[in-house]
Parts: sequence; structure tokens; C-alpha cells
Amino acid sequence: DREEPNYFGAGPALLPTSVLQQAAQDLVNYKNGGLGIGEISHRSKDAAQVIENTKANLKQLLNVPSTHEVFFLQGGGTTGFACAATNLQAAYAGKHGKKAPGGYIVTGSWAEKAFQEAARLGTDAEVLVNAKDLNQGKYGILPQESSYMDKIKSKEYSYVYLCENETVHGVEWPTLPQGLVESGVEIVADLSSDILSRPINVANYGLIMAGAQKNIGLAGLTLYIIKKSILEDISKVSDNQLREMGIPLSPIATHFPTVVKNDSAYNTIPIFTLHIIDLVLRNLIQKGGLEAQNELNNEKTKLLYSTLDKHSDFYDLPVAKDCRSRMNVVFTLKKAGLDDKFQQEAASRNLTGLKGHRSVGGFRASIYNAVSLQSVKLLAQFVDEFAKVNS
Ligand code: PMP
Repeated sequence: DREEPNYFGAGPALLPTSVLQQAAQDLVNYKNGGLGIGEISHRSKDAAQVIENTKANLKQLLNVPSTHEVFFLQGGGTTGFACAATNLQAAYAGKHGKKAPGGYIVTGSWAEKAFQEAARLGTDAEVLVNAKDLNQGKYGILPQESSYMDKIKSKEYSYVYLCENETVHGVEWPTLPQGLVESGVEIVADLSSDILSRPINVANYGLIMAGAQKNIGLAGLTLYIIKKSILEDISKVSDNQLREMGIPLSPIATHFPTVVKNDSAYNTIPIFTLHIIDLVLRNLIQKGGLEAQNELNNEKTKLLYSTLDKHSDFYDLPVAKDCRSRMNVVFTLKKAGLDDKFQQEAASRNLTGLKGHRSVGGFRASIYNAVSLQSVKLLAQFVDEFAKVNS
């Protein structure tokens, strides 16, 4: 057991205590069968059941249409950068018999890393727009649609990539840009840090990828939701044809059609990690699903931002209001020399995990699904008092 933590870490993140308690039991003795869940074969009936349940619960929660398939891979979000690029380029080649670049809309360091990896591997990748270039060298805004749509309309892209919530810079797309959705280009989106925080329209995405270690569970698995027609297109192109076109192959364990054909167990799936995801999903469903979670998240976000805004002479919020992240609230102190004091006083009230990413400094309160309204109230109260005392 434990006291409920007030933990605002950016990931790995807090998980519901009840989920961890159940998982701890199951790690030792699953369903009273005498073996722990991490010890059973990934091809056993019990393991297959966990995979099935988890997929079914995800489909229910996210309202996944029959046009899309759900699967899991190891390797985290970073591996997702690579296999999204190789698989989507293969899909385009399978459908059109030629190559086209992936286009990246960069609004923070994670989309930037995704682009760098795609380019590094030798897939054809192009930055459509980098929001930093439109904002004096700093992330914190969303680019105007025209800044990337003109290119997308004038040239073919195998996919367009964006990161829906930039965990480091605290920039979130409130919705997918309408023009992009209507253009028909396949949208690849990184939802690592905002998946399951609100309802989404899965039909609008070609590929969703999300590392599990924020809103869905433990590090070790990445969730993918893909349009089935993309899987079919990848299957149309042979390894030799890809080689001839100069498109890098995907490692077999990340070749999407192979993984889906084998129900996410082409190679050994970490079943304990998946079981935790299943427990988190059941917990979410029990609490009223994504509508209820979204309402709660909105309440938490509103409280924290409005408290910070109230002291705008003391706190600096670098992100434009129309794209402030509902998950990662980024702020700095305007006065120099107070950072250590802020952190120490917060810690003395058991408010932890607030340090900003090393690349941007300042503070970041990550208020993922499992962070309670009560924790956010305590943080808001501290933020308010600290400004009053130190102004
Ligand atoms: N994308 C986003 C939005 C992230 O926040 C992170 C990690 N925090 C990653 C990708 C990379 O994930 P991983 O560390 O699992 O490779």
C-alpha cells in the first residue's frame, strides 16, 4: 500500500494505485494458477486472452471503427519514429508503385526527433514547417494551415506526421487541423502523451502511435492504431521492390502486416506490461470512459492555468493559449534565483516531479489521467501562495 502521491512527472507517470496493487498480485500468482503473469507463455490461452481483452477495451474506449486495427510493439515511441516512416513509405509504394516523401509538421522536440530519425534511416523525409522558425526560434505556437497545406496540395506525400502533444514544450493540437484531414493524405500522429485523455475521431488518422508510459501503462509497449487499407498496401510490395526503390526495410518485428497477422505476438510480447494496460483501461471504463476523463482533465487544466495566469507578472507561460497542453503545463519563474526555492518548498508539501525538461528548464507539471483533481488543487494552492509571498 502507499499514501496517494502528488506526482507530476512527465513519464513514466503515475498509475492508479488500485491497478498497481492488482498487478502486483498477478505478477506473483495469476488467476491462482500458481504462476505469475510474466512467466506464462506468450502463446498460452491466458496470454491470448489478455491481448484480446486489451484490444477490445481500447476499441471500446476510443470508439475504433472497423476500418482500423489495434496492435502493440516493443521499442517505445522512438522505435515508432522509425517504423512509422518505413511502413508508411512502403504503403505508398505498394499503392502507387513509386516513392513519395513523408512530410513533418514540427511543433516541438518530439516531432523534430521523429523527422531526424526518418531522415537518418534514409527514408525520404521533409520538414513541411517548423513552428520554431515562425516564433523567434522558440517552440510554443501552432503554424497556420497555409504554411503546410500549400505544399501538401502541390506535391504528393506518402504521409504527413505530427505530434499531437509535445511533452517537453507543452504544445498540444486541440484537434487535428481540418484542412489536413480533408486533404486525404494519410495522417501519422504521435499521441504518446495525450492518448486516452479525451475522445478522438480515429477515422481521421492513418496511423496513431503512443508509448504506454503516460496515460496507458508502463514503459515497454507502444500502442498502434492503423487504417487497414494501409496494412494491405504494405503487403502489396515485396522486400526486393522496396530495395529497388531505395526505401529502407522495416525490421521484421516492426513490419506492421507481420505483427498484425500474428496478433501482436510475432515475437515475445511483454504480457505483464500488457496486462497493466488492460487494468488501466478497465479502470477508465469503470469511471465513465473518455467523456468523463476529458471533463476531469479539463477541470484540472483550467484550475492550474488560471492560477498561473492570475500571477502573470510572476510566472511566464511560453505557450500560446490556443495550443496549451492539457497534459504538460510548462512555466518558468520570471524572477531569477528562485527555482531551487520553488522546488524545495513544493517538495516539502509532497508535490514532486515538477522540474522542467533539461532542454528548456523551468517547471513542468504533467497532469496525466491518473493525477487526481485533489493533487492539482494542492499544486494550484502552492503556485498561488508562492507567487504572493515571493513577488
Ligand atoms: N513521443 C512523445 C510525445 C514523447 O513524450 C516521448 C517520450 N516522453 C517519445 C515520443 C519517446 O518515447 P520513448 O522514450 O518511449 O522512446
